[in-house]
Amino acid sequence: MSDCLFCKIIAGEIPTTKVYEDDKCLAFLDIAPMAPTHFLVIPKQHFASAAEVTEENEALIGHIYTVIAKLAKEQGFADGYRVVTNVGELAGQTVHHIHFHVLSGKQLGSFN
Ligand code: AMP
Ligand code: ZN
Repeated sequence: MSDCLFCKIIAGEIPTTKVYEDDKCLAFLDIAPMAPTHFLVIPKQHFASAAEVTEENEALIGHIYTVIAKLAKEQGFADGYRVVTNVGELAGQTVHHIHFHVLSGKQLGSFN
């Protein structure tokens, strides 16, 4: 999608600090970190949010969780981390390309 911030990041039009990339997904540091470790994992295929997950793309979501588990082990935070995906503006979603926040490195608070 030409007007999507994260599609522009995938296309290399906006610079980020890359954490991981393969043919299906990209991980990069969040520009406004909420924890010592805070990166985002996004599929290269554009869809708006987890509300659009279907049988057609469920394997891609599983792949993203596999990548996150591997990165957690490699980067040494597998003992405690949080994966968050916000759906819709009521949940605080500001970028409408599905993304998974990965947070670690401090005691994380409860949800509100
Ligand atoms: P959400 O509020 O769940 O939609 O999360 C969007 C996230 O994208 C926020 O945590 C932002 O800090 C992050 N973000 C926005 N623009 C950029 C960017 N250019 N590079 C890295 N992270 C970004
Ligand atoms: Zn997009």
